Amino acid sequence: MVDTSSSSSSLPGAVKAQPPAIRRLRFFSYLLPCVVLGLALAAAWYFWERERQEIEQALQVEFDARVRETTSLFRERMLAYEQALRATHGLFATSDRVQRGDFQSFVANLRIQNHPGLQGMGFALIVPPDERERHIAAVRSQGFPAYTVQPPGDSGASTSALYFEPTGSSFLSTLGTDYFAEPSRRPAMEAARDSGGIAVSNKVKLPEEDAAQVQAGYRMYLPVYKNGKPQGTLADRRANIVGWIYAAFSMDGLMDNILGERANITVEVYDGAGQDEDQLIDTYSDRVGGESAVKLFYATQQVEVGGYGWTLTARSLPNFTTAIAISKLQLVARLGAAASVMLALLTWVLLRRRLRALSAAENLRSAKEHAEAASRAKSQFLAVASHDLRQPIQALSLFVATLQAMAGRAQVPGTEVSHIAQRLQLALNGLGRLLNGLFDLSRLDSGTVEVARRPVEVAQLLAELNNAFAGPAGAKGLGFKVFAPRGHWVDTDPLVFARVLSNLVANAVRYTEQGRILVGCRPRGHMLEFQVFDTGIGIADEERARIFGEFYQVPNVAREREHGLGLGLAIVLRSVRLLGGQVGVRSTPGKGSVFSVTLPRAAAPELATTVPAELREQFTGSVLVVDDDPVVRESMQRLLAEWGHPVRVASTLGEAINAAADLADSLALVLTDYHLGNGVTGTEIVEAVERRLGRQVSAVIITGDTSPETVADAARNGLRLLYKPVEPRVLAALMKSIQ
Ligand code: ADP
Repeated sequence: MVDTSSSSSSLPGAVKAQPPAIRRLRFFSYLLPCVVLGLALAAAWYFWERERQEIEQALQVEFDARVRETTSLFRERMLAYEQALRATHGLFATSDRVQRGDFQSFVANLRIQNHPGLQGMGFALIVPPDERERHIAAVRSQGFPAYTVQPPGDSGASTSALYFEPTGSSFLSTLGTDYFAEPSRRPAMEAARDSGGIAVSNKVKLPEEDAAQVQAGYRMYLPVYKNGKPQGTLADRRANIVGWIYAAFSMDGLMDNILGERANITVEVYDGAGQDEDQLIDTYSDRVGGESAVKLFYATQQVEVGGYGWTLTARSLPNFTTAIAISKLQLVARLGAAASVMLALLTWVLLRRRLRALSAAENLRSAKEHAEAASRAKSQFLAVASHDLRQPIQALSLFVATLQAMAGRAQVPGTEVSHIAQRLQLALNGLGRLLNGLFDLSRLDSGTVEVARRPVEVAQLLAELNNAFAGPAGAKGLGFKVFAPRGHWVDTDPLVFARVLSNLVANAVRYTEQGRILVGCRPRGHMLEFQVFDTGIGIADEERARIFGEFYQVPNVAREREHGLGLGLAIVLRSVRLLGGQVGVRSTPGKGSVFSVTLPRAAAPELATTVPAELREQFTGSVLVVDDDPVVRESMQRLLAEWGHPVRVASTLGEAINAAADLADSLALVLTDYHLGNGVTGTEIVEAVERRLGRQVSAVIITGDTSPETVADAARNGLRLLYKPVEPRVLAALMKSIQ
């Protein structure tokens, strides 16, 4: 029902929203560091990528050189083997019958140990069937009695591994072997025979002529033809072949020598120009696994020696990328990430610092604005207050002058004096109300009003309101209804809150000419909302926040002194804040208004602790009045005596002590001024009296001093405080409440 958005938030002192610049900066203080982090990471990635490409280029150059070197070393070795074969072939060209000794010393001269991977040189002789017996007999006679051509073979020609140098321990077991019968060698031997050039066998797996070096090996064959016979055609070459000289070599030995220590590339050697599986001669590498931050390289090279070709493929292994390159890349990545985070953090810190500076400046600015507004309000307040004070004082002085003039007359009609007395009373009432309002405000502002919150029954509170206002509203011809739900309790100070509600209802009655006024209360979660509806003149939007200022009255609303002072809502706002609640207002000009107050709910107490006023006993003891002003002393004495109390008056501390001693046990109440002569205070009077009597006495301080110090002093000593001028009605109520 209550439009809080247009009410409580628009009240003076409501929390202000942050200016857009600060809101924007706060938003950017989160966004910008993220953007900076993203950009910095992108830049870091760019540099890392560039570094990686540079490293890859350098590695590519190194890899190419490595492949070139590997290929050329491979060619050199093969060339060396071919050269060795061709040199040995020269031996056979010079003699039709090369003896074992010739072969032995020739090969020894070749110094094959200087050729890495080369295991030895051999000669395989073709033994035609018709010469077989003679051949075996001849070799046996040369010191090899167990010699034979093995396996025995069929009736066709067979070959015999006749020579192999250098001779090893397994030589005798392989002597005479017909290797032509072996599928791993035969194709190469046939190819060499048919082409007249070199050919290389497949991998040879068996223990070799030299058993000391049992390992995978290859044979490079060169055919030997009958000297002086034609070799021009294939038929010539097949008809005139005598045998083969061959170089036995180990590809492992060869490649180990070529690749050396740096096992960071893998090389595959293929027979011929293709790269088919069945052409693969062997793979050479110490395979090293792992991830590579840079790409792996690949290259293919063709090698040809003596008309025979090989294909070499080379691949880089992950460890080809040097540790330095990897650590450099890692360094770039780590530095980049760290720098990005630092940059984002720096941006965040700078923005937060700027935000703090802006907020501080904004706080300063609003504090300054606040102070200026307060100062302006104070001046305005003083101007209006002095105007409103002057009015009744002016009236008073005029009536007093009239009375003085009348005093000079011989006869004064009683009706005239009575009329002037009534006017004087009216002016005094107005003054008293104004001063009370001002004092209330001043006490609320100085923070010296202490609220005593306790559970208060809502029904009881609203019933009292009904008693107070049903009459005045009815007198104005207005309907007045209070909806007081039973069983609800509110956590508040009953006196302060009753004043708040009275102010709101009084306004409703004051600003409503026809219709009705409703007062209600409804629960809102753990709060209770009190509402005062009226069908009065209403309040324009732009006035809603201002009406809570001191002395503010809506312009164009007829302002009558007796009706309002413009202090009611200012007191309401301050009181409700003190009670920990909120005030709201919603209104439609010409239709009516709703004022609301929200306060915390309270649990119902187990036992009611309040005692209805009617049940209290009125005290009948003596009263001591202490005041240094004789007029006040006298008027108080008369009034109290009129009400039937024994009264003693005193103007100083000494007189007060003496009077108290005289009254002794009958003294029931001390009414004292605060500032007495010689710097004596009302609290000191009460203390001295109590000390003299040796017991506590009810006491009330009646003063015109509203300063916070006075209020605090009275509160500290547990004394009640009334402000001058005290209305007799208030005094009577007070006396009634003293037991
Ligand atoms: P006043 O003593 O003049 O009523 P208040 O501080 O109580 O001073 O109120 C300030 C101004 O707010 C009033 O002068 C009046 O113009 C306006 N106002 C307060 N209550 C109502 C209401 N129920 N309906 C219309 N106007 C109101």
